[in-house]
Amino acid sequence: MSFASDTKNAICKTTEPMWCCRRSELCALVCFAGDLCADHALKIRLENAGVVARIEQLLKEILGISQLTHLRRSEPGGWHTLLIRRRDVIENLADGLGLFHDGEIALFPEEQVTDFDCCKLGFIRGAFLGGGCITSPEKNYHMEFVTKTAPLADRLLSLLEFYSVSAKLTVRKNNFVVYIKESEAIAELLGSMGAGGAMMALYNVKIERELRNAVNRQVNCDSANLVKIASAASRHIKAITQIAQTGGLDALPEALREVARLRLENPELTLGELGALANPPLGKSGVNHRLKKLMEIAGGPQ
Ligand SMILES: [Zn+2]
Repeated sequence: MSFASDTKNAICKTTEPMWCCRRSELCALVCFAGDLCADHALKIRLENAGVVARIEQLLKEILGISQLTHLRRSEPGGWHTLLIRRRDVIENLADGLGLFHDGEIALFPEEQVTDFDCCKLGFIRGAFLGGGCITSPEKNYHMEFVTKTAPLADRLLSLLEFYSVSAKLTVRKNNFVVYIKESEAIAELLGSMGAGGAMMALYNVKIERELRNAVNRQVNCDSANLVKIASAASRHIKAITQIAQTGGLDALPEALREVARLRLENPELTLGELGALANPPLGKSGVNHRLKKLMEIAGGPQ
């Protein structure tokens, strides 16, 4: 099962108590998954068996369209087609869902279908079940709704806007695609549509990803520090070796000789850590001062 079909199955298990919202959902399902064929039949294509069961239930509850009036075909690829040929049934459906425009049927709802605030979410849910898809958050944050008509895409955009979801519109192979990339918006939408599991899965991936990024940032920061320490240590060691080669180490005052020895023995340590090894212990600036002195004696950079 893909993440998208799991999500759709979860949404199909939710119950919508409000009749008006169920009608909006059915309307969106028909508009997004339906097609008015040249022979005037209404063909509704759906990929998910759970969604097929849901639309059949809604057709019966909202419009009294029973399974006897339509033909259901399942294709080998997993797609299902509901075919309604009877003109009176199609007209009844168009009338009940607000799809009549000046006597003509079009798969685009009248304004009043999504007028009530409560029904807006029902419509978005139907649009997702009928023409939506979501990528697994492990791969990408991406949710989309595909439709053949621009007005339907525009209507969906304005409904998403009502919920402050910033969605974008693009055209792909003669289809209008409304898509959302923002992880928070996708998660909230999943939650409101009843896909709590998918919402949690998305949040988990997001948290894991953010944690990993934070750790990576820390590691990068640590390795940058290590490079700095190593390059300073190599300058110190070069200077001390130079002094040693000219027999100068023994001539150094005890304080400098001790720091020179500690540096040679512990090239990986920071100045503070070197200071802690000294007897008596030295602060970072004390060690720094002495190493500078050693470099001065060797004639290296100050
Ligand atoms: Zn409603």
